Amino acid sequence: MPQPYNLEGQAAVVTGSTSGIGQAMAQALAAQGVNVILNGFGDPAQIEADRRRIEAETGVKVAYHGADMTKPTEIEDLVDMARREFGRLDILVNNAGIQHVAPVDEFPPEKWDAIIAINLSSAFHATRAALPLMKAAGRGRIVNLASAHGLVASPFKSAYVAAKHGVVGFTKSVALEVARQGITVNAICPGYVKTPLVEAQIGDQAKARGIAPERVVEEVILAAQPNKAFIDYGQLAGLLLYLCSDMGGGTTGAAYTVDGGWTAA
Ligand code: NAD
Repeated sequence: MPQPYNLEGQAAVVTGSTSGIGQAMAQALAAQGVNVILNGFGDPAQIEADRRRIEAETGVKVAYHGADMTKPTEIEDLVDMARREFGRLDILVNNAGIQHVAPVDEFPPEKWDAIIAINLSSAFHATRAALPLMKAAGRGRIVNLASAHGLVASPFKSAYVAAKHGVVGFTKSVALEVARQGITVNAICPGYVKTPLVEAQIGDQAKARGIAPERVVEEVILAAQPNKAFIDYGQLAGLLLYLCSDMGGGTTGAAYTVDGGWTAA
């Protein structure tokens, strides 16, 4: 039997890891002995505090790079930081993402461009930069945080749904290209995860609709999610660690749902 995960000493870049899912995925990798490069926006003092906390809790090296995911040269430099800091790059998690909700004929073009750049094109730029390092090592793991919205649609989220469907297609295409080189490329498609972003929406919606927060969760936010429960970070981390490990070596080009049954309906 292979040891579970066995990732100690590896190096990872996790985009958009100063908050929410990305931060949880970076922590999960660090807890397995993986040196990590964090990325994302936020209060510099908070980012530094989080960086130090993860280092102290896990004993790995944690670095930070502030690359803006709309800027290809900054993304290349972020990926190259793994080579500079750790001399290797084993795992790339393309996670950074934003959302904007509006009818398509009222959708601000600059929001469309930003969502496509951050949610889709950044995965291309990071993958393009990471593959030479992974090919030289004969091994690599790329995990793209897509969404249930990479497989099905909701109204008023045209840019997000287009970008996430794009991520799933991109995942499959790259997986085919590198299938003989020890590199796997997969997408994780979560349903609703209780990130700070979603938590804020619960209070706002409850106030706007004049109903209790529990009803907002069940009837509004989790309307499409049959199990009526948020996905938690541990449920995503379990899949991420499996995909990154040797146990996940036979899995590539896949889009895995962790969505409480949403896309089965
Ligand atoms: P979040 O807002 O908590 O975190 C997003 C991260 O991306 C932050 O670290 C932020 O600083 C970073 N970011 C945003 N714009 C950036 C830019 N231009 N350059 C660099 N970093 C940037 O969001 P989250 O809910 O944790 O989402 C993470 C990913 O998971 C996204 O791709 C999202 O689409 C996806 N996802 C989220 C949910 C959910 O319910 N929360 C469900 C499915 C998929």
